[in-house]
Amino acid sequence: MSEIRDNCSRVIDYMRISVIDRCNLRCVYCMPPSGVMPLDHGMILSYEEIARIARIAAGIGVKKIRLTGGEPLIRKNLSYLIRSIAEISGIDDISLTTNGQLLGGMAEELAGAGLNRVNVSLDSLRPDRYREITRGGDIDAALDGIAAAERSGLFPVKINMVPIRGLNDDEIEDFARLTIDGPRHVRFIEYMPIGAADFWSEDKYIPSDEIKERVESIARIEAVKVRRNGPARYFRFSHAPGVIGFISPLTHHFCSYCNRLRLTSDGKLRPCLFSETEIDLRTALRAGAPDSEIERLFRLAIEIKPDSHELSGVKLSPNRKAMSRIGG
Ligand code: SAM
Repeated sequence: MSEIRDNCSRVIDYMRISVIDRCNLRCVYCMPPSGVMPLDHGMILSYEEIARIARIAAGIGVKKIRLTGGEPLIRKNLSYLIRSIAEISGIDDISLTTNGQLLGGMAEELAGAGLNRVNVSLDSLRPDRYREITRGGDIDAALDGIAAAERSGLFPVKINMVPIRGLNDDEIEDFARLTIDGPRHVRFIEYMPIGAADFWSEDKYIPSDEIKERVESIARIEAVKVRRNGPARYFRFSHAPGVIGFISPLTHHFCSYCNRLRLTSDGKLRPCLFSETEIDLRTALRAGAPDSEIERLFRLAIEIKPDSHELSGVKLSPNRKAMSRIGG
């Protein structure tokens, strides 16, 4: 099997693919209330184009694919894409990041198509607050989605929470306790200065160490090794079936573990979430480029992958592309 390393010796074996820029929610920290200007349909990669890129990526060493968005479950017939990717030799893991609103009715079909795992973004367990944060989301639909994913064998379900001071940080302990009830992963992700520029302020940011201290106020946690843990550091309460992860994009040397590339919904390859540098695959694909040329562009993206992101502090550049288009 091929393996590709970047200039920092990181093995690049993971690609996140944003299949659509639109979302059915408008989370206050991610998008402005009106949403972001949607791309024209013709600018979005077709499923055939995505599958071709995935096949070429697999040929040089990508083994894991995560589908994201926008909200991936609002794109029609996503199972078709999952099935096409599952047939690619060398891809051994297909996962999905979703807000879970539509997951309840789709989990079984997605699992049948070849999806292995799912991450559900959930920032509150309280119905009113969930509706406010997401500007209209239904907590019961998200919880049904999690239950349906667990029933369908999309295992382990990872619940991703972004604690934001004054918004939902009083629920950190409640989220951590979910790992006592079942074998799921609850992961706390540091709030990053990207997305809705009007919402960000430095005082809302909570470093992972502080989040971890709040979790430890419930009971002692012990470090655990989780297979394919990527950038998360994992812990568990003694005898708990689930684990608690901390993802620290702004602290704790996240970059040295970064094994990924991102493909935007409009066909740009991004070596780093925090850098504006992109390599345009769509133009090459639509100009009739052979696989060897797409592969060359891929290798170039890996070659220019930065050692570490440029966010030394927590300053927001309001020009950053919306998270929904890059693929969170
Ligand atoms: N719609 C899908 C979902 O909700 O999971 C996929 C796209 S969403 C942009 C992916 C993830 O990005 C979500 O878990 C969300 O919490 C996270 N996200 C968006 N803006 C963020 C920010 N400023 N800091 C940290 N995480 C952020």
